[in-house]
Amino acid sequence: MLDVEGIRNDFPILARQVHGKPLVYLDSAATSQKPRQVLETLREYYEEYNSNVHRGIHALAEKATERYEAARERVARFIGAAGPQNIIFTRNTTEAINLVAYAWARPRLHEGDEILLTPMEHHSNLIPWQLVARSTGARLRYVQLTPDGRIDWTSFLALLGPKTRLVAVTHVSNVLGTINPVREMVAAAHRVGALVLVDGAQSVPHMPVDVRELDCDFLAFSGHKMLAPTGIGVLYGKEEVLEEMEPFLGGGEMIGEVTLESATWRELPWKFEAGTPNIAGAIALAAACDYLDALGREEVYRHGLELAEYALRRLQEIDGVTLYGPGPGVARGALVAFTMKGIHPHDISTILDQDGIAIRAGHHCAQPLHRWLNVPATARASFYIYNTCGDIDSLVQSLYRAREYFEYVLR
Ligand code: PLP
Repeated sequence: MLDVEGIRNDFPILARQVHGKPLVYLDSAATSQKPRQVLETLREYYEEYNSNVHRGIHALAEKATERYEAARERVARFIGAAGPQNIIFTRNTTEAINLVAYAWARPRLHEGDEILLTPMEHHSNLIPWQLVARSTGARLRYVQLTPDGRIDWTSFLALLGPKTRLVAVTHVSNVLGTINPVREMVAAAHRVGALVLVDGAQSVPHMPVDVRELDCDFLAFSGHKMLAPTGIGVLYGKEEVLEEMEPFLGGGEMIGEVTLESATWRELPWKFEAGTPNIAGAIALAAACDYLDALGREEVYRHGLELAEYALRRLQEIDGVTLYGPGPGVARGALVAFTMKGIHPHDISTILDQDGIAIRAGHHCAQPLHRWLNVPATARASFYIYNTCGDIDSLVQSLYRAREYFEYVLR
């Protein structure tokens, strides 16, 4: 079990008040809060060895380079990658997916090729493929979902075929909480010769993820959802696939030899890192990996699942609440999306905010999924290592207050 009280002490922001009430932060699926141990690495970098990487031959530059490259090795270990050559630092999940769309998909796909997606994708794992389809003539195909928001396996197998070049799928849905059977999907896709990109934005922060066990070709995730700062993300790629790809962006750092007419590229992974990277962000991401590994990734997952199950149970007690995604008893991510009859999710969020409770309301960058759910928007409470059942009790209490208020106003 996690020592949540001890963990909370590491997060200075959790001590603050919002509208005169203690902050109850239930929006970690959007971005997580940051512990002192991570914030300290930022301070240390900027106060003690701020310098550019790779280029300088002086003590500060050497230390910055050493810590930046050590961070890459740390991230590789965090996701079970073979080595640092598999880890490309990006700004976020979105940039990591776009890197694959531009550098792998665009030069390779043609009319007649197919990209297999699901209707539960975040726009970040949808728009890049729409752009690829538009420029190459490739076709997007969509797996059907079961009524409770899981991948319909029969539909997946029926759509998978010799035309499928890529399967791009989220590991955990940021709305439904569904955990997709990625390992089985990869095995099936590889049997027809397709590659698989896994959007790990909602899985890597919350559960053990091992790329060699999954055998996925690409994995994308964001530091800011896993205790690290904004502006640092990761693309994992299999070495042989990355080797075959041309660079995504051109500029300093990613070159070998440059003449006025042409250039050669550096070896992996630097071939894909043009310009000065987010040095402090990468170092802080390594500190976030240390923090999560010290807690135990299995423990982190179990805590999130317990909170999600408790939230499902408590929310079900409220008249007029509809819950989305798999019900209790099914493995799921640490979040719950819901609607309340007669109250728009934005109004729910506004009333909760008055009680110091931060949730998210809207389409959560998943408009096609909301169309499938037949609602314009949902409210979403999402949890992390610093949340307690007490936070969910506060949420439920505030939801009762929201309902009372609307009943009074509409009377
Ligand atoms: N994919 C999923 C499933 C997400 O939940 C998110 C963020 O909410 C993203 C991708 C995009 O992440 P970022 O905005 O950090 O690129």
